Amino acid sequence: MTLPADDGFSTRAIHVGQEPDPTTGAVVLPIYQTSTFAQDVVGQTRAGYDYSRAGNPTSTALELALASLERGRHAKAFASGMAAADTAIRAMLRPGDHLIIPDDAYGGSFRLIDKIGVPWGLTYTAVPIADLDAVRAAVRPTTRLIWCETPTNPLLTIADIYAISEIAHDAGAKLLVDNTFASPYLQQPLVLGADVVMHSTTKYVGGHSDIIGGALITADDELGESFSFHAKSMGGIAGPFDAWLTLRGLKTLAVRMERHCDNAEAIADLLQSHSRVGRVYYPGLENHEGHDVAAGQMLRYGGMVSFRVAGGREEAVKICSRTRLFTLAESLGGVESLIEHPGLMTHASVAGSSLEVPDDLIRLSVGIEDIDDLMADLSDALN
Ligand SMILES: *Cc1c(COP(=O)(O)O)cnc(C)c1O
Repeated sequence: MTLPADDGFSTRAIHVGQEPDPTTGAVVLPIYQTSTFAQDVVGQTRAGYDYSRAGNPTSTALELALASLERGRHAKAFASGMAAADTAIRAMLRPGDHLIIPDDAYGGSFRLIDKIGVPWGLTYTAVPIADLDAVRAAVRPTTRLIWCETPTNPLLTIADIYAISEIAHDAGAKLLVDNTFASPYLQQPLVLGADVVMHSTTKYVGGHSDIIGGALITADDELGESFSFHAKSMGGIAGPFDAWLTLRGLKTLAVRMERHCDNAEAIADLLQSHSRVGRVYYPGLENHEGHDVAAGQMLRYGGMVSFRVAGGREEAVKICSRTRLFTLAESLGGVESLIEHPGLMTHASVAGSSLEVPDDLIRLSVGIEDIDDLMADLSDALN
């Protein structure tokens, strides 16, 4: 089925790469749980598949859908967001190259670059990614990549994707955007000038907290080819069942994101007017430093809300264990609401580094439950 490119987001999420099974007419794509594929004569495959490390029809369907939703031409699905990140780094950089990263990058990406990329021969500079002068000042003759997240984790900082893509391209470098927090529904970085989009599909794309997965998407044929080659060579590919679950989640991304945004906006308002709450970090709030840039590049502002507690670290830790519906857990982007203390949980490994976060900070992944129940739960925990 070839759909016109102007089909809407949900139409493409539900149909691209997912025509009924040609053999049986099954409306839902089968899980091709197979390692290898029969060849009719030597070297002649039936549909281009020979071995599932190099390609699998279930994964292909997910890849076609993701490429369409991000307005790219090529997508590759991986076993995790970090496998996607590792593949991007090794495909795009060589020992001796320099990259620029946000000073509040996802902790796992920071660890990959700092603990594995640096011994491999990379150098990096961590900058406040919302500060374009700081990004520009960090460029060196050997800079080949700017690594960008927006909104960032856990402080929801907003980076200006278009402006940073110009800085990267003027320097002869590429721009990669980790689009995990926004999802392709709220933000399409390739349209804004980025060269590569990375996802932890574990989060909003999958949306049900039941898989670990990742993806790289690009409109550049050479990069697309290189990601496939590296994936096949390095082996960090998505298995067929994980790809199937991810695709199942992807179909409802638009309706889930609308509800995540509705709920997060209401929670941000509640927190902002609460006497026991200090600063609230949500790009949808007009007093957020990145609000105007976010309004220009995002459809809405997402489901993540962070806030500081007036009572400091001890009080923050207590609140995290007092909620009934918000489950105390790492991760984000699922239908259920989660609460966590970044300083002691997701960001414990960056304590003492430039990525350290305030210890009175709480991060919420606002789910799609009924908003009245979520508000009551949070109010009870705060009071
Ligand atoms: C979770 C996450 C990752 C890592 O993805 P995994 O699927 O856990 O490997 C990368 N970037 C961001 C922003 C994330 O939230």
